[in-house]
Amino acid sequence: MNALWIDFVNSDWRDYRGSGRRQDRLEDPQWLRKFRREWGLDGIDPRRPEHHLSLSRLRSLLQGIVGSIVAGAPPRQRDLAALNRWLSARPVRSRLSSERGQFRLQLVPTARGLDAVCFAIAASFAEFLVEGDLSRLRTCDNADCGWVFYDRTKSRTRRWCGDACGNLIKVREFRERRKRKSKS
Ligand SMILES: [Zn+2]
Repeated sequence: MNALWIDFVNSDWRDYRGSGRRQDRLEDPQWLRKFRREWGLDGIDPRRPEHHLSLSRLRSLLQGIVGSIVAGAPPRQRDLAALNRWLSARPVRSRLSSERGQFRLQLVPTARGLDAVCFAIAASFAEFLVEGDLSRLRTCDNADCGWVFYDRTKSRTRRWCGDACGNLIKVREFRERRKRKSKS
C-alpha cells in the first residue's frame, strides 16, 4: 500500500546494511521535494524549527502506534488521544471520490500550512486504522532497517520492506548456515 502516512513514517531512515547510520529525510531537500509533490502537500518547511518539531512528534507518535499494532497489542489510550489532537485541525471539508468502483469519503483540510499537512498525515493513518487490514502491517525483518510496509501478498509472508533488505538478509542467513555446517 502506497500511503501518505507510510511514506512519512519511513522518512526516518536507518542504514539497512547495519552501519548504524541514520538519516532524517525530512531534512533532505530532494526527498522532501518528492514527498511534497507526490502527496500534494505544500506548506511544510522542516528547516523551520517549529515545523521540524511538529513533524518529528507526529512521526514518533505514528511509530509508537505501529509498534503496538505489529506487536499485536492495542494502541495506548494516550497515543490515541494524541492522534485525535492532530486530527482536530480546522477547517476541513468532506470530499467524495470514486476509484475503481469504490467510493471514498475523505476529510481534507481547506487551509494550507503546517497544521493542514499534519492533519492530512494523521488522517491518512486514521483511515488506515479504520479501513486497512491491521494484520498485514509489518516492520521490516531486517533489524537494522525497521521500515514500515503493508504486506499485500496472498500468503501474508512478506518479511522485508524491499529487495535490498531481502537479498542482504538471505545472504547473511546463507553465510550463517554455512558457518554452522563447517563447524559441525
Ligand atoms: Zn528493510
